Amino acid sequence: MKKILSVAVVSAMMILTCGQASADAKNPKIGFSIDDLRLERWARDRDYFVAAADKLGAKVFVQSADASEQKQIAQIENLISRGVDALVIVPYNATVLNNAIKEAKKANIKVISYDRLVLNADVDAYISFDNKAVGEMQAAGVVKVRPKGNYYLLGGAPTDNNAKVLREGQMAVLQPLVDKGDIKIVGKQWVKDWSPSEALSIVENALTANNNKIDGIVASNDATAGGAIQALASQKLDGKVPVSGQDSDIAAVRRVIAGSQAMTVYKPLKLLAGEAAKLAVQLVRNEKPGFNGEYDNGFKKVKTILLKPTALTKENINLLVTDGFYTQAQIAGK
Ligand code: BGC
Repeated sequence: MKKILSVAVVSAMMILTCGQASADAKNPKIGFSIDDLRLERWARDRDYFVAAADKLGAKVFVQSADASEQKQIAQIENLISRGVDALVIVPYNATVLNNAIKEAKKANIKVISYDRLVLNADVDAYISFDNKAVGEMQAAGVVKVRPKGNYYLLGGAPTDNNAKVLREGQMAVLQPLVDKGDIKIVGKQWVKDWSPSEALSIVENALTANNNKIDGIVASNDATAGGAIQALASQKLDGKVPVSGQDSDIAAVRRVIAGSQAMTVYKPLKLLAGEAAKLAVQLVRNEKPGFNGEYDNGFKKVKTILLKPTALTKENINLLVTDGFYTQAQIAGK
């Protein structure tokens, strides 16, 4: 019995020391691999994340894959060889990172999926906004302005799991209205890389195909909404056809105020980034994060933290100022 006990104690000690040897719990090193830092929202995420991690005693190495899956894989491998304790990933392509993540797990690195879920891979945790709720808000925002008519669905990037979750939320609102005969979905398309110019040409084509008889466009973010509104403008339909969005990009906020975009969604990125930094550090320190959900990513049920988004229209857009997301001067462009 004594012998069995001592074996158990020794192996427990070994596990503990192994754990500590690779992870510097006091000052963890975090690799932050971001799809594309060239976009407004992700640069904000980076700044908030680095500041929050710094306060927790962690050091962050940031990499931008510039919308390239090969580059992102190479950067993740590089972060692994730099000996990070945690990897926080905004995937460009949700489905191609399983091997890189396998390598990370072998090196005892905690892996966190940030905003977008990495599919079919052994990630330790996922943190995002409630994207289904965002999709519901987008559809409801367009329906509120135009409860009946021909709708076009402008989806996000097909490589981004969020695009599909948003669509689920949008359809939860739209399907009953389609069934009732109030709404007809005259077309839908995913927008490669969430690109505004791609969105522009998709909506131009949709307008032509439907003789301009489109009454509402459910766009899945502000970047693609911008392209859609440009297409509408060239037919003098901007402001007449409600368009949704999300992110509260500065250009979109101005469009909401001017009336050419019906709504956007506010996702407090400081909260997301702060919670994510805390989550990464807690996992490295073997502490228990406060999860509030689970998400099946095809490999396992991933423990998840989902944060609350807020729908914004012209009426409540000032929340962005009171919450410190923008100053009044920034919105006014001064
Ligand atoms: C994010 C959106 C963003 C989009 C394009 C999505 O995964 O949730 O906030 O607009 O990617 O970058």
